[in-house]
Amino acid sequence: MSRKTSKSDNFFSNKVAVTFTAILILAGLFVAAFFLTTFIVEKVGDNDTPVLPEITLEDKSEQQEVTTSGKSESPETTAPETTQKQETTAPVVQDNTPGNVDYPSDDASWKLICLNRSRYVGSEVENQINLSYVAGSGELMDSRAAAAYEKMYDAAAGDGIYLTPCSGYRSYSTQKRLYNEFFNEYLYQGYSEEEAHNLTSKRRNPPGSSEHNIGICMDIICASSSANFQNTKAYAWLDAHAHEYGFILRYPEDKVSVTGVKFEPWHWRYVGVENAASIKNSGLCLEEYLGLA
Ligand SMILES: [Zn+2]
Repeated sequence: MSRKTSKSDNFFSNKVAVTFTAILILAGLFVAAFFLTTFIVEKVGDNDTPVLPEITLEDKSEQQEVTTSGKSESPETTAPETTQKQETTAPVVQDNTPGNVDYPSDDASWKLICLNRSRYVGSEVENQINLSYVAGSGELMDSRAAAAYEKMYDAAAGDGIYLTPCSGYRSYSTQKRLYNEFFNEYLYQGYSEEEAHNLTSKRRNPPGSSEHNIGICMDIICASSSANFQNTKAYAWLDAHAHEYGFILRYPEDKVSVTGVKFEPWHWRYVGVENAASIKNSGLCLEEYLGLA
């Protein structure tokens, strides 16, 4: 009986020892796996060399674009000095922000829509625009503006001037991505959300507030050579004739305090022939002409 008991005790203590050893091995494996995973994640992270913290947007492809693109844009802008790294994940940048300006359904109102940093359309505008390529280019505009641009292009070409389209329609989504690039950079540098918005909006138009988001304007020369555009024959031609085709200089040199945008000799806005003539003759910028200044 006592031998039996002893055998049973041995069996019991062996079982405890085996179980204990197994737990130790499992714990060891778990710890090893944890360190290995951390190591791998860090390695992969290094290869990606992320510039911005991970942000939460509606899809991965867009997030990827935010992290990697747009470095060549806005040569006039420089990031502020780094203050401190923000360790927390950046908050979500709001999508589907409603506009405070309705996108007009009738031609007359559409021609005179005024967008700026305090007047913007909502993201739904993206589905409401009828776009066309400007003939012979890869640039899109609202089809009404594209037709007018083509007439103007042909007229200028007849005078030996080529108004090569550089940047027409830019979707709300694209504008949001461009905006978020800077916004998230400021968050990463330790600014609050409010500060980040204030700083970003000085450098880039928030989504829905750029005329490019509704395809009603065209940048006629690309940023790399924009500095001297006002001294070109193309600018002189536009200054003399653009209104005949329904286009106005949207951001004149003497209206910076009203528009809040620096002189942009390359940015021409469609308003229709009659409005363009009135605006040009009045010497007012669009905000003033509409009584919004
Ligand atoms: Zn422009």
